[in-house]
Amino acid sequence: MQPRSYLKLSVAVALATMALKTAAWWTTGSISLLSDALESLVNLAGALFALAMVILAAQPPDEEHPYGHHKAEYFSGGFEGLLILGAALAMGAAAVQRLLQPQPLEDLSLGLLLSVLSSALNGALAWGMLRAAREHHSIALEADARHLITDVWTSAGVVAGLLLVHLTGWLWLDAAAALLMALHIGREGFKLMRAAVDGLMDRALEPEWVERIHGTLAEFAHPTIRFDHLHTRRAGSRRYADLHMHMPAGWTLGRAAALRGSVEQALMAAVPGLRATIQLLPSDVEAHFDDKKDAL
Ligand SMILES: [Zn+2]
Repeated sequence: MQPRSYLKLSVAVALATMALKTAAWWTTGSISLLSDALESLVNLAGALFALAMVILAAQPPDEEHPYGHHKAEYFSGGFEGLLILGAALAMGAAAVQRLLQPQPLEDLSLGLLLSVLSSALNGALAWGMLRAAREHHSIALEADARHLITDVWTSAGVVAGLLLVHLTGWLWLDAAAALLMALHIGREGFKLMRAAVDGLMDRALEPEWVERIHGTLAEFAHPTIRFDHLHTRRAGSRRYADLHMHMPAGWTLGRAAALRGSVEQALMAAVPGLRATIQLLPSDVEAHFDDKKDAL
């Protein structure tokens, strides 16, 4: 299934979750379940934003964006990270307040059941989304899936805390469980934000992909051919590499271009989604861009 279809499903599930949790609040009058329902409003916003960004990222290059729109996905990752961090802060604050002023719990059996049901729905969806995100290298889809998973953890923490309170009679366990969950999802939100910043900052490809590029170049090794100045970066699902290919100055342009074509094809076969730009240079000449004095 395509990332776009998964995100549409995510919008639908967010609406269903909202209905389930609102019903849970309606039947129990519990304030914690009401805040849970409001949190699914955040899910809806996250899924809609991710969908918009995935659609934008898929737009072909145009005059104003000649390199394409792949980076749009990072806005989505940053936005979801921010939403998750906000939820973690709100949850932590509520938990601390509960710790200071413990309150007796109402009968929550139906509310808990509805909460578990919506968590199961979200968990199943997130599992499928994470697999598709890996397959399509979609950071927006991955971010939305991680967002859903933090929700599952939140609900699991709430349910576990309430069950423990029921068993032990210790009211503070409810708040302690919520605090632990807040720390956990806060960490997830931070990781998503960091991944988005890395993407916008043109972070190099992961070491395993750089290894593969070096391995592929090694296949073309020859005493008269030299590859150097390899730079890599990632933009959404696209991967980029820039490098030099040095060869004897006496080669014809046709011979050099033929070799470059084979290298490009081998690189694209080794690293999916790679766009390689290979500069052709004589053995004893370096590009002026790489001079230290030209560095900004
Ligand atoms: Zn060079």
